[in-house]
Amino acid sequence: MSEATPFGIYLHIPYCKAKCRYCDFYSAPGARGVPQSYVDALLRELAKNTRRPDTLYFGGGTPALLVPTQAAALIEAANPLPGAEITLEANPDVVTPETLRGFRAAGVTRISFGVQSADDAQLRRLGRTHTAAGAAQALAWAREAGFPEICGDIMLALPEYTNAEFDRTLALLRDGGCTHISAYLLKVEPGTAFYRNPPAGLPDGDAAADFYLYAVQQLEAAGYRQYEISNFARPGHEGRHNLLYWNCSDYWGVGPAAHSCVGNVRRFWPDDVQGFIAGTVAEQREGDCTSEDYLLMQLRLVSGLNIPAYERRGGRFTAAQCVFMRQCVGHGYAVWDGEVFRLTPAGMVVQNAILEELM
Ligand code: SF4
Repeated sequence: MSEATPFGIYLHIPYCKAKCRYCDFYSAPGARGVPQSYVDALLRELAKNTRRPDTLYFGGGTPALLVPTQAAALIEAANPLPGAEITLEANPDVVTPETLRGFRAAGVTRISFGVQSADDAQLRRLGRTHTAAGAAQALAWAREAGFPEICGDIMLALPEYTNAEFDRTLALLRDGGCTHISAYLLKVEPGTAFYRNPPAGLPDGDAAADFYLYAVQQLEAAGYRQYEISNFARPGHEGRHNLLYWNCSDYWGVGPAAHSCVGNVRRFWPDDVQGFIAGTVAEQREGDCTSEDYLLMQLRLVSGLNIPAYERRGGRFTAAQCVFMRQCVGHGYAVWDGEVFRLTPAGMVVQNAILEELM
């Protein structure tokens, strides 16, 4: 593994104020803060690392439940390179002007808010604990705190969804000064409250695809350029950390359920927060990062799959797959100049079906 290879560290904060009805992330609800014993366990693991990261990402869970002094200690222990991107995920109702100023002073460069919708009835249905007005307020505080990068998440194809709900949510994020927007289709995952008790009015697959294509069009019109299936940014404001994942670069995840890929070897931590705190569980090897992983990740990006790079990783398309790829181009699902094969927004909607043929 070369030191010149970009390297990112992900710190998982598995605590939330309440459990959202659609969420299958590893997190414990009911938290008012992050136990110091958990922060100490992260510090213990970070002390084993000697490689300075280009990016540091606090994900969750709800990392904004950390107090700024805890975040500062973790940033210091991670020892990021000068100019590193340091992201912290937040929910609008767990921040105050003081905590946001504290996170900024601790070195956080990028604050990412789970806004999801500008419709209060929708937010209640999702089990979110903030309101649209609260989200606008949090974005204003983030601007005042001086974050160079402010990000907002939108969920698409929610129950009883309309393009007007999307427009209101986009306006909230745009007017709030977001430099980056992630727009995700709702997926009802096993183990969630929505899976056990599906909400009424869920759009079908065709309607969800139409909501996605509408969102891509409106985000582009508002100056947010798509660079990944679900990610859009003002030019120059793309998220550097997640690009490490999609480019199969090195990243080390720390905390229960966190995943890593370093030197093409994938590892994960068991989802056992008490074992992590006690130091009785260790990272497990998951397997190697293969050419198929590279294909899967690169086709998420608007920049697409560079076929010579894919071949250098041991991948090769069969003659039948090449015929299929030309058919994708013919149907408007892809663009292929002989060297780079990339999906159009219409192709991204059917990405899973395309991947089935190519893998
Ligand atoms: S969606 Fe975010 S805030 Fe809601 S339970 Fe999941 S991790 Fe916590």
